[in-house]
Amino acid sequence: MLSQVVELIENKHNFAITTHVRPDGDGIGSSLGLCWLLRSLGKTAEVIVSDGIPISYQSLPGGDEIRKISEIDKQYDAIFVIECSDIHRPGIKGLESEFTVNIDHHATSEHFGTINWIDATASAVGEMIYNLCKAIGGRVTKEIAECVYLALVTDTGSFHFPNTTDRTLKVASELVKVGVKPAQISEAVYNSYPWSRIELMRQVLNTVQRDKSGRVAWMRQTLEMRVSSGMTDGDNNGFVNIPLAAKEVVASVYMREVEPSFYRVSLRSKGSVNVARVAEQFGGGGHKNAAGCRVEGDWNKCEREIVAALIKAVENEDYAEIEEFELSLA
Ligand code: 5GP
Ligand code: MN
Repeated sequence: MLSQVVELIENKHNFAITTHVRPDGDGIGSSLGLCWLLRSLGKTAEVIVSDGIPISYQSLPGGDEIRKISEIDKQYDAIFVIECSDIHRPGIKGLESEFTVNIDHHATSEHFGTINWIDATASAVGEMIYNLCKAIGGRVTKEIAECVYLALVTDTGSFHFPNTTDRTLKVASELVKVGVKPAQISEAVYNSYPWSRIELMRQVLNTVQRDKSGRVAWMRQTLEMRVSSGMTDGDNNGFVNIPLAAKEVVASVYMREVEPSFYRVSLRSKGSVNVARVAEQFGGGGHKNAAGCRVEGDWNKCEREIVAALIKAVENEDYAEIEEFELSLA
């Protein structure tokens, strides 16, 4: 819990921070935000990851100092593990025998850390890092603020996902007060991709299909597209959300071929359609409106099974509610 984290920071000096493979904005923003907080308290801290960092997050303060490693190669007093469901998620060997601090906002996190601080009411781990800064009596420096703001923006879909609360906006407001320029961060996150993102988007959207009801959409990214578009890490961020821009679409699937006959699947939904339940049927998991899984086998067959499960979820759980909602608007 939070008080244990505060006590640890007060008593120890030499820290590392890590996050999950294929890091997202919350993972990187929160890790760097915590790093700057620790440094501002006179501690030694560095961010270590096993994977590449999307270009859009590299411009954060300290983004160029992140060290890429595959195995723990130094002595630390403790290692903070940000936004990971288990000790293997960072993809760094030797972590399991370290003193670890598990910080997460997913209720499903295994309590794998020596210390565990889980707050499922936080919109992003970034919000927790801000709370930690306040709890420890630290000053929110511009570096901390920029990193934490990026975490909030990316994990709340620019403050439009349902996890956006009054607390999120209050924290964001505080961050702007200490010097964050929202337009500058948005520019870095959303308008700084290489052209390969646009080329990949063109190819992926070319595959989009919908079921008869028009409420479930799905699309594909093949290995060939990776090559022909020249994509870099993070170029496909948010693609899964694109079909949800249509009013009638309430569930969306995005299947990426990672090796022949092996696919990573992202699922997204609106309202009460629970895609975590669908992902679980295929050995995955996640949140009600954002989940994922990995599947193996014939592409058409896998796609048909997932789409069928989604159509069922939409029909069973959501249909009545949406009709009611639309009636109430009429
Ligand atoms: P994304 O589509 O952005 O990769 O993942 C969305 C959400 O689903 C994340 O919260 C992530 O934790 C969860 N998720 C994605 N893939 C998997 C998976 O293979 N297994 C589990 N348990 N969760 C996943
Ligand atoms: Mn998060």
